[in-house]
Amino acid sequence: MKALVKFAEGRQGMEIRDIPIPTPKKNELLVKIMAAGICGTDIHLMHDEYTYYPPVILGHEYTGIVEGMGSAVSGFAKGDQIISMTAAVTCGHCGYCREGLLMLCNERRSIGSGVNGAMAEYMVIPAELAFKLPANVSGDDTMAIAEPLACVIRAVIEQSHIKAGDVALVSGPGTIGQLTMLIAKMQGAYVIMSGTPQDAERLALARELGADAVCSSPQELKSIIDKITVDGVDVAYECAGAPPSLDVCINMLKKTGNLAQVGLYGKPVPVDMDKILCKELALSVSYATERTSWDILLKLASQGKLEKVKKLISARMPLDEWETAFDMFANKEGYKIYLIP
Ligand SMILES: [Zn+2]
Ligand SMILES: [Zn+2]
Repeated sequence: MKALVKFAEGRQGMEIRDIPIPTPKKNELLVKIMAAGICGTDIHLMHDEYTYYPPVILGHEYTGIVEGMGSAVSGFAKGDQIISMTAAVTCGHCGYCREGLLMLCNERRSIGSGVNGAMAEYMVIPAELAFKLPANVSGDDTMAIAEPLACVIRAVIEQSHIKAGDVALVSGPGTIGQLTMLIAKMQGAYVIMSGTPQDAERLALARELGADAVCSSPQELKSIIDKITVDGVDVAYECAGAPPSLDVCINMLKKTGNLAQVGLYGKPVPVDMDKILCKELALSVSYATERTSWDILLKLASQGKLEKVKKLISARMPLDEWETAFDMFANKEGYKIYLIP
């Protein structure tokens, strides 16, 4: 089968290889990949800015069809369309594992960096991490966006403090920002999406997807906030992973508000801790997903509430054209780009 393998440093350490189709172990599913989304993490992996265990097949955002399974698997049948959690290897007995916090296990290895991932024709995954998709979202590859969506569900629904009537700021209108806005709207908040003058198209899409207000400068943001609130926003989701965006979030929050960190910066950044202290801000963070996040995602999917995510899939490209696709993604051309093996 064809697979995009990272075997050494840099872009020159990545290539399409022809390797044998994996054989599922007794507790594993063999999945035929329909689509694998490119994520910021994959760009970091290309540049060796994220831990990986070479040679490894990249890709952790996908949906696919069960093609075979090990002898101990039950509850799945050939032909089922699935999505799955990414933490393929965990120790199973540490305090975090026992609490169900698989992402925090010290021995965790995830698909696409620690073990072989989804940018290939086939992949194996422990059956206990997989979820059969409800019929109404099966039959096409839309749900390859499930993993980033589950990340946002964890950030917004599980970790942040947001309720109907709150005013929420989402700073950074990329894919994660747009998904954050969609989920914050589901929680009943008034959502303002903020970006930069370069983000005109992204802000227009945010509007189309249901943002209550959009703005492209801190001044514009301030005037919107002053019209709708007395003290500032209740929750601010930092989704850009950029220090100026973090400053805007801290400045626009009301005292006792919730600073929710969703984006990754990739390096240490300066933070005005005194302001956080003086405003008594609560900090909420989340690291990818846990099982509970996927349970919520599946409910929203079966209730038909995830239709709008289709607008965030901007291109589908053959796996062979991964270099062009990675460049498009890194240059912020569009939102999600799916590689089709
Ligand atoms: Zn991702
Ligand atoms: Zn563990």
